[in-house]
Amino acid sequence: MNTLIDQPILPDGPLALPATDAPGFALWQLLESVCDPEIPVLSLREIGVLRAVQPGPYAWQVYITPTYNGCPAISQMQDDIQSCLQQAGYHAEVISCLFPAWSSEWITLEGKDKLHAYGIVPPHAIATPAGMHHIKLVPANTHRSVACPQCGSTNTTETSHFGSTACKAMYKCLACMEPFDYFKPY
Ligand SMILES: [Zn+2]
Repeated sequence: MNTLIDQPILPDGPLALPATDAPGFALWQLLESVCDPEIPVLSLREIGVLRAVQPGPYAWQVYITPTYNGCPAISQMQDDIQSCLQQAGYHAEVISCLFPAWSSEWITLEGKDKLHAYGIVPPHAIATPAGMHHIKLVPANTHRSVACPQCGSTNTTETSHFGSTACKAMYKCLACMEPFDYFKPY
């Protein structure tokens, strides 16, 4: 993997599909079927991992940013992207970029809805007054209650800060006793 090639300036924030006449639109559309291996209801775009698709000198270049540095799912995501595009006849290289770093704010709104429907509480948005810059100094989850995705009760408790994957914490609802995952803000 060559990370020193002409790297585009990657966008920040959640991404919508590009315009239908944008270069690479067909690839973006194909990649909507490639899901996060750990959260199979979210496409890589919806979770904010897929950052850019551009024509390169020899192949299409697909830029991804893992949710965590060292995320074990990264090589599976690369393989899934490659095979999805190969099956459609595209030659592509997948390039991992760590800057700008992924943030849970990159999950799209539809993605957050899907997470919730899947039983994972999406990360709380950090309130940002309009026109002000966002400064992350305080862990976003401090003093915030996480509502149970089953019954909506906020009488919940964190049972483990690391859940089935490093990006999730395990919670238990004390009202309905349902255990659930919380996708931590990051
Ligand atoms: Zn509950």
